[in-house]
Amino acid sequence: MARIIRCECGFVARGGTDDEVISTIRGHMKTDHPALFESVGQDDLLGWIQLE
Ligand SMILES: [Zn+2]
Repeated sequence: MARIIRCECGFVARGGTDDEVISTIRGHMKTDHPALFESVGQDDLLGWIQLE
């Protein structure tokens, strides 16, 4: 099953593993939401993961 994290802007990060989807959403936040990137931690990201 794929893992996804939906960003508030509509971007959807997809990955086959938790690490993969977290690294994708981190890359997106770094370029599109630098303030969010600074304030969101690993635990928050793990809580946002949904199974698709
Ligand atoms: Zn976004």
